[in-house]
Amino acid sequence: MPKTITEHNLRLLIDSLLKDRFRVVGPRLAGAMALYEPLAKGEELVLDQLPRRSAKEVFFPVCENILSFERTEAGLQVTDVDLSAMSETVLVGVRPCDAAAVPVLDEVFSWDYKDEFFLERRRKTTIIGMACTKSDDACFCSAVGLSPGETKGSDLFLTPLLGGGYGCQVLTDKGQQLLARYPKLFVDTVDARLAPLAGGTGDRLDLKRIKAWLDDNFESPLWNDIAERCAGCGACAFLCPACHCFDINDEGTTELGHRRKHWDACGFGKFTNHASGHNPRDLQNKRYRNRIMHKFKYYDDKFGQTLCTGCGRCIRHCPVGIDIAAILREIESRSQ
Ligand code: SF4
Ligand code: SF4
Repeated sequence: MPKTITEHNLRLLIDSLLKDRFRVVGPRLAGAMALYEPLAKGEELVLDQLPRRSAKEVFFPVCENILSFERTEAGLQVTDVDLSAMSETVLVGVRPCDAAAVPVLDEVFSWDYKDEFFLERRRKTTIIGMACTKSDDACFCSAVGLSPGETKGSDLFLTPLLGGGYGCQVLTDKGQQLLARYPKLFVDTVDARLAPLAGGTGDRLDLKRIKAWLDDNFESPLWNDIAERCAGCGACAFLCPACHCFDINDEGTTELGHRRKHWDACGFGKFTNHASGHNPRDLQNKRYRNRIMHKFKYYDDKFGQTLCTGCGRCIRHCPVGIDIAAILREIESRSQ
């Protein structure tokens, strides 16, 4: 029999998890915007907004220490981060475009180099996804093969019901364990009618055709036309649930400090600057070309997946109005 949970019980679930010493992260109001942030109580969960930033930072923080160093009389002491201290986490209220990006990121973080920081957080996190009943003009998840009811990446998935509450799909062992831990909060329901999900998130793009055009058009005037106005601010990469470039720097002095990992963005002028001073992507058009190539060609070549879930954040927040969905439609039309 299908399980359902009321909104009241969903908030109680968060309170119960907190009482049991889980870290619970979900959409929460931070000033005027919702962000995925640690919740202090169930009441804080925001259910009707796509958070401004994506959920990737639960696994891949904006910046983090990866080791500390100190020069002592005995020599240079290096201390690793204690990964076992990372908290068991439940990520709740995750929109399908954010949850679907997590298994896409698994590929690169567990590829030739295993990023234990990302992977340990992944192991310790249960994702409760939530279907969308509304979308805006920038959303285009359906165009990249997902949907407002997409369950990819979720361990449990909640779909709003007509009349209130949520239908609950168990998708993984982690989801089953969570449900089994708090059985009284979930009830069996015979007549659970799902609310209509968001519509209008874009006609399906032919990503294979787009990739075929990219395979043949590393040099194309299109890159100049698109990227001339790109300000190189990096907002598109920082907001994106699938972008994952980072830089590593030592901070402090030669005697005492930390090695830190920071988000980076291919739009930044120095992103590929070599120590020699040579920069193979010296102009903004080459940098924007890399953004599209990485998402729709290179990642597909390497992992058979696309680095875009159609969340629309880079469209909503680009200061110069660059619209990646429109660019994909333009490429699709050129590949006829
Ligand atoms: S948000 Fe817009 S202006 Fe900023 S780097 Fe991305 S495309 Fe360029
Ligand atoms: S490329 Fe833009 S629309 Fe696609 S997932 Fe990233 S931020 Fe969202």
